Amino acid sequence: MDNILKTHKILKKDFLNKDDLVFLLATTGESFQALLDKAAEIKKHYVGNIVYYRGLIEYSNICSKNCFYCGIRGGNKKLDRYQMTDDEVIEAVVFAYKNNYSSIVLQGGERNDKSFINKITSLLQKINKATDNSLGITLSLGEQTEETFRIWKENGARRYLLRIEASNRDLYRKMHPDNKKHDFDTRLESLYTLKKLEYQTGTGVMIGLPFQTLEHLAQDLVFFRDFDIDMAGMGPYIEHEDTPLYHYKDLLLPRKERFELSLKMLALLRIILKDINIAATTAMQAIDPVGREKALKAGANVIMPNLTPVKYREGYLLYEDKPCTDEEAEHCLNCLESSIRMAGDDIGYGKWGDSKHYFNRINKSK
Ligand code: SAH
Ligand code: SF4
Repeated sequence: MDNILKTHKILKKDFLNKDDLVFLLATTGESFQALLDKAAEIKKHYVGNIVYYRGLIEYSNICSKNCFYCGIRGGNKKLDRYQMTDDEVIEAVVFAYKNNYSSIVLQGGERNDKSFINKITSLLQKINKATDNSLGITLSLGEQTEETFRIWKENGARRYLLRIEASNRDLYRKMHPDNKKHDFDTRLESLYTLKKLEYQTGTGVMIGLPFQTLEHLAQDLVFFRDFDIDMAGMGPYIEHEDTPLYHYKDLLLPRKERFELSLKMLALLRIILKDINIAATTAMQAIDPVGREKALKAGANVIMPNLTPVKYREGYLLYEDKPCTDEEAEHCLNCLESSIRMAGDDIGYGKWGDSKHYFNRINKSK
């Protein structure tokens, strides 16, 4: 069958199986465009053409883990390590509050020591106090125990982002050291715990990893559907010179192709999980200057403007060519607003923009 005919036929189905997903991940030209159009239609229908902001605060680059792909892995000795002061965090949070962002994400390296856990708890209290409990707070601080997740939730965190990175166990193993601290099952377990504790639960993968196939990516999409995620953050893998995975850089797809593959993943995710929140991630913009806008057109509905103080940005280079490392929050803001409008969306100022899927899911189970 002609490719475009087959594409249309698959896109009309109610349920896409793994083979359908692999086929659509391989589309080019007219078929690729048909896929993007379908995702845009579903986005409009299910979540509307509204983009929600989450002010991103890259709290600290101190990390006890050693993921092979990540520029801030503990083993990278070339890096100066930092942790924002409470005042700096509050300043960023108040900026978000005053500019009507209504949500923030506190992200950083993973630490499981008591002093870190207590620090985050007290920060959550301070953030809520400074903003009249009015911000939707997302945490992205790696794997933690159930008790820690519970305490953070009790202190005001509503959402948690923990990417599975690669839902295929063997591929996951290749991307991480083979030890207890980097155990696939522990990561999975953490995701289930977050869901049990009724966090809005977000996950995602890197796209274009060495050794990754279209089958792996289709498996990731099936994993998201089976897990019934509320939110997703996915983007292209971008090599970083000071990491072990850099060794395999010759195996990578050209960046443009990695970017297109990421757009296809976003579009497919919107098609199969219609009402979730999907972020147009910074890594999309690192490859293509209008990458985030293209991601919005492919189905994303969340953007995370960076509120990290500029002096720390060089310290939080997870990958090469990360954009906006020398711009203060306000500068990014103006261009962002007009480019979002150019992509055909409005900004949901002053709205939490919670995952619709979360409420649909919770109501169904009651
Ligand atoms: N430490 C936490 C959160 C910070 S890292 C955690 O790991 O969950 C946030 C995300 O950055 C990771 O989930 C990973 O998917 C992404 N990341 C790390 N290195 C990357 C790279 N080289 N290219 C693209 N994304 C990367
Ligand atoms: Fe640490 Fe997260 Fe980077 Fe892994 S991906 S090294 S846990 S910051």
